Amino acid sequence: MNWNEQEWHWTNESRMVILTGAGVSAESGIATFRDSGGLWENHRVQDVATPEGFIQDPNLVIEFYNQRRAELAGVNPNPAHLSLAALQKKLGEERCFLITQNIDDLHQRAGSSQVLAMHGELKKIRCLNNKNHVIDFEGKQTRDTLCPECSSLMRPHIVWFGETPFEMDLIFERLRNCTHFIYIGTSSVVYPAAGFRDIARSSGAKILCINPDGSGVPSSDFLIVEKAGEALPALKLA
Ligand code: NAD
Repeated sequence: MNWNEQEWHWTNESRMVILTGAGVSAESGIATFRDSGGLWENHRVQDVATPEGFIQDPNLVIEFYNQRRAELAGVNPNPAHLSLAALQKKLGEERCFLITQNIDDLHQRAGSSQVLAMHGELKKIRCLNNKNHVIDFEGKQTRDTLCPECSSLMRPHIVWFGETPFEMDLIFERLRNCTHFIYIGTSSVVYPAAGFRDIARSSGAKILCINPDGSGVPSSDFLIVEKAGEALPALKLA
C-alpha cells in the first residue's frame, strides 16, 4: 500500500523503531554496498569485512577502514538524516528509537541524540585483547596503534560478517514493544537486521518501507518508492 497518513494511525501512545541502512547515506555521496554489485568500494566482502580477512591481511583491512574513515571528512548529513533527527527531537528517544546498520557518523552529525550503531562505528577502534577497551578514533590506524589501556593491538570497531551485532537484547526489546516500524535504505539481506521487520510485525506494529528500489524489498504495510532524502522531509510520521 502507498503512504496513507490516516492508516498509519500515530497516536500519543505510539512508539516507533526506525532501522536505516546504507541507502540513507547514498545521497550524501557514500556508496551503498549491494548497489555496487556486491563489492564494497571494489573489495570483496570476505577480504575486508570478515574476521578471517583480518587474520589473513590485517594491513589491507586496516587501510580499507582508514579510507572509509577519511571519506567522512568530505561528506555531510543529507535531508534524510536531518528529518530523522528532527523527528527524534520531537518525540523523544523513548518513542523514537533509531537503529542504524551504517558505520558512518551522519546520523550523529545530523543531531540524532540516540543512535544504536549495531554494526559498529568507523570513528572507534577497539582492543584485540579486551573488547571493552573501545576508544574514539579520528586518524589513520596502523599496526602500531596500540590500546591505551593494555598496549595490545587494535582493530576497527566494526561488526564483521559472522560476528554478532551490538546491543541485540535492547534491540529485540524495542522491537517487541513498538507500534510502528520504519526501515529505510536497506536491502534487507544482511541478518539479523533483515529479520527486524518480521519481529515488529509479529508484535502488531505497522510497517513502512522507504526505498527507491520498490521491487527489491520485502512486503510492508506501506511502501514509498522514493529516495530517503526526498521522501522523509515531506512525510508527517508523527
Ligand atoms: P545495502 O547496500 O545492501 O542496500 C542499500 C539499499 O539502499 C538498497 O536497497 C537500495 O535500493 C537503497 N537505496 C539506494 N539509494 C537510496 C536512497 N537515496 N534512499 C533510500 N534508499 C536507497 O545496504 P544495507 O542493507 O545497509 O547493508 C549493507 C551493509 O554494509 C551494512 O551492514 C553496513 O554496515 C555496510 N555499509 C555501510 C555503509 C555506511 O555506513 N554508509 C555504506 C556501505 C555499506
